[in-house]
Amino acid sequence: MADNRVVEGRMVTPKKLASIIEGSDVMDAEAITDADRSCPDCDGDVLEVGYMPSVTEFVTGYKCQDCDWSETDR
Ligand SMILES: [Zn+2]
Repeated sequence: MADNRVVEGRMVTPKKLASIIEGSDVMDAEAITDADRSCPDCDGDVLEVGYMPSVTEFVTGYKCQDCDWSETDR
């Protein structure tokens, strides 16, 4: 799938990336895009993914491609 991206050396799907950010499984996730920012910890490239942790919530999550830094817009 073209949507898959490499994060910390592993290929991840949008749902997998969202679950890493969320810390648990998510219901649905949009395509992964490149965020217009760099990681505050290692200056690496940051990926962005919109996802639904539950039916009533939509969250935009950010995850560094190189280290374990992540953040959401909550
Ligand atoms: Zn980083």
